[in-house]
Amino acid sequence: MTDRYAVFGHPVAHSRSPQIHAAFGSQEGITVDYRAIDAAPGQFEDALEAFAADGGVGANVTLPHKEAAFALCTTLTARARRAGSVNTLLRKGERWHGDTTDGIGLVRDLTDRHGLDLRGRRVLLLGAGGSARSVAPALLDAGILELVVVNRTPERADELIDAMGEPGRALSRYWDDLRELGDFELIINATSAGRDRDAEFKLPLSLVNSLTAAVDLNYGEAAIAFLAWARAAECRNVIDGLGMLVEQAAESFQQWHEVRPQTDAVYQTLRTGAASLSDGA
Ligand code: NDP
Repeated sequence: MTDRYAVFGHPVAHSRSPQIHAAFGSQEGITVDYRAIDAAPGQFEDALEAFAADGGVGANVTLPHKEAAFALCTTLTARARRAGSVNTLLRKGERWHGDTTDGIGLVRDLTDRHGLDLRGRRVLLLGAGGSARSVAPALLDAGILELVVVNRTPERADELIDAMGEPGRALSRYWDDLRELGDFELIINATSAGRDRDAEFKLPLSLVNSLTAAVDLNYGEAAIAFLAWARAAECRNVIDGLGMLVEQAAESFQQWHEVRPQTDAVYQTLRTGAASLSDGA
């Protein structure tokens, strides 16, 4: 039986992952059977079971299944356990092993592609969903000075911070208190607020200093509102989530095929068509 790979999500038709993994495969001389599989909430486990029975050995998982994927794994990487969320599944015998590659994907994009030194930076993380939970430990591991998490639902920011287990270095604050938080060298939008066509980011300018890099995990239309704010605030670097998308995919590819693909050519191809991209792994 041919080894099969897939991305599960709902919706998932817009996903760039099949294109990215096919490009990595042709670069490495590996024929990759990677498809997008739409599974509605409640159908994910059955769809994954059918996939495994049909030769499925590796899968990416995107909205809204990352927590369900976490729950069904028999083994997990330390970073997936800390994040409470899984975006990469690897079949081991009759069971699934889970990892989360979003955080390391973001760090690789910021450091290797954009040349940012994350060490010593005060970081503001907006959002406390699945991607924020993957990104937070990766940033702490990358040597940032302090992580402040702000979320619309404050309890989720508190939970994220509790899961980090670094009380002195990682803390949660209320969205309404943004004006009182001082300035940051890195501001990350890990919310999905920009998916609303009428979205506007009205963040205080006091958050920005002369070094601030503003990063949106979203790309395409969903990133327009936050990146517009960042440009108006004259942030030094303004970065969308396209590079992270390619880097998290490379990390998954490496785990499945035991070879690390080059990401720059794939990134450039996606960047050329970025204006027309809709967001989502
Ligand atoms: P989740 O659904 O898990 O979390 C959504 C987050 O956005 C929550 O913190 C939620 O707050 C917040 N939010 C939603 N609407 C609003 C709003 N109107 N105002 C303020 N906050 C809001 O999603 P993920 O964490 O998985 O993903 C977040 C975004 O990042 C998505 O748009 C996704 O496409 C993108 N992403 C990009 C990746 C890449 O590779 N580039 C990888 C992963 C994600 P609350 O808790 O209050 O509901």
